[in-house]
Amino acid sequence: MSAKINKIGVLTSGGDSPGMNAAIRAVVRTAIYRGLEVFGIMRGYNGMIEDDIYQMNSRSVANIIQRGGTILKTARSKDFYSEEGRKRAYENLQKRGIDGLVVIGGDGSFTGAYKLSREFGIPCTGIPGTIDKDLYGTDFTIGFDTAVNTAVEAIDKIRDTADSHDRLFIVEVMGRHAGYIALHSGIATGAENILMPEVTTTLDEMVASLTELEKRKKLVNLVVVAEGYQPNPDSDLKGANEVVRLVEERLKGFETRVTILGHIQRGGPPTCIDRFIASRMGYHAVQCLIEGRHNVMVGILHDDMHYTPLEIAIREKQKIGDDWLNIVKILAS
Ligand code: ATP
Repeated sequence: MSAKINKIGVLTSGGDSPGMNAAIRAVVRTAIYRGLEVFGIMRGYNGMIEDDIYQMNSRSVANIIQRGGTILKTARSKDFYSEEGRKRAYENLQKRGIDGLVVIGGDGSFTGAYKLSREFGIPCTGIPGTIDKDLYGTDFTIGFDTAVNTAVEAIDKIRDTADSHDRLFIVEVMGRHAGYIALHSGIATGAENILMPEVTTTLDEMVASLTELEKRKKLVNLVVVAEGYQPNPDSDLKGANEVVRLVEERLKGFETRVTILGHIQRGGPPTCIDRFIASRMGYHAVQCLIEGRHNVMVGILHDDMHYTPLEIAIREKQKIGDDWLNIVKILAS
């Protein structure tokens, strides 16, 4: 039986994602309801190292469920990669008697949490907060639904213009290593082609499919590209600009337009789904610490809670199945 936890810390780390505030609110209110003290750690692991930590109460999280971003702010902390940095961070937790942690972020943030728990024995729970959705052991990650809906809304508008001209529109969405935003927004907007980092669609295949569409007088050509898609394996250049450069090189006279959606995909009020899963995960993350289910990532699989040990959540990735590629091809035909 593990020792009873009395004081917990909560932080957001890595890229921000809409719905993180709803998760913080759920963690704080569940913890207080269960008789724990809660401390907010500012700017991810940086705040832990620099002792930027404050006690929270139920009112600290009032009126934030509908807000994007994170009231605790977030950061990528270089110092936390070193053992010395983590030791300093742990000493600051120890000073306040913080004996449990909830980390909201992606697999990098969970790696940090896992190391801290291994080195200093502090129990951690991870909440998947990333717009990328590629984490193993969960059907949902907080922020993905909002990001993908923002992308869909923007692409719909671009399609109206694409519909009015015979041009190739290439839209870049976020996803340095994962193509989920591209896949979902591309399918939902009827894109002719979807290019993702996980799938090696060669340039020859893409040019062939564009030529074929042109022959069939398919007037709207909309291609959705993930920012991490690398069209030429021999070059490090990625994303929509590189795709356009290569297409224009091959298909002379093909008129192209590029739109890079960028950071609008991270902001804005979270959708109902993101608020709902964030609330559910936040509640269960605290329950895990109380019930001794330590060093796991809380997830939702087939509408049930699912707990993945942090070392597995760090190692494994959610993969895009081959059947999706068939669906993309058939529906664009
Ligand atoms: P996103 O999905 O938005 O990229 P993430 O959590 O994967 O989120 P990272 O930048 O990879 O984002 O990690 C966030 C922070 O977690 C890092 O800045 C660092 O402080 C900590 N971290 C990541 N990897 C490690 C590691 N190997 N050792 C210690 N700390 C780490």
